[in-house]
Amino acid sequence: MCPLATQGRNTVVFGEGNPDARLMFVGEGPGRDEDMQGRPFVGRAGKLLNKIIEAMGLKREDVYITNVVKCRPPGNRAPLPEESGTCRPLFLFKQIEIIQPEVICTLGATAMKGLFNQDLRISKVRGTFLEFNGTTVMPTFHPAYLLRNPAAKRFVWDDMKKIMDRLGF
Ligand code: URA
Repeated sequence: MCPLATQGRNTVVFGEGNPDARLMFVGEGPGRDEDMQGRPFVGRAGKLLNKIIEAMGLKREDVYITNVVKCRPPGNRAPLPEESGTCRPLFLFKQIEIIQPEVICTLGATAMKGLFNQDLRISKVRGTFLEFNGTTVMPTFHPAYLLRNPAAKRFVWDDMKKIMDRLGF
């Protein structure tokens, strides 16, 4: 069993959105608000993600939103590689298989490394299209990082424009 299941999480935060979404956002793991409500990205970072989605001309219900791990790591620490490694094939890979998004947008370095299981550098690959098992992936910064560094918002907007272009939005 994954240690996160027994380290004080309140709910499993599976993910939500359109099962036919063409675009999937993947974060690192639920925080406190998400753990309380059982929904992904509902805290401050989530509000900013909503704004980003709306700026793309979409609604939150149009996309699918989830995380690499489905249980809140204690104290909001980043999930450990073995935790991501346990959760990923059980849930995230299945969600990708079922939803078959055309583009996955990973939010932050931990989500990107968690998906690929590789020590990629976000400073190098952010804003470039990668491929994961045949699905296009756009790694961008995490909205929580944007709350601390608003100047980085323009990079994320550049990345969203690339996604919109790719999807013909
Ligand atoms: N941060 C994440 O990575 N995921 C959430 O669901 C909320 C905050």
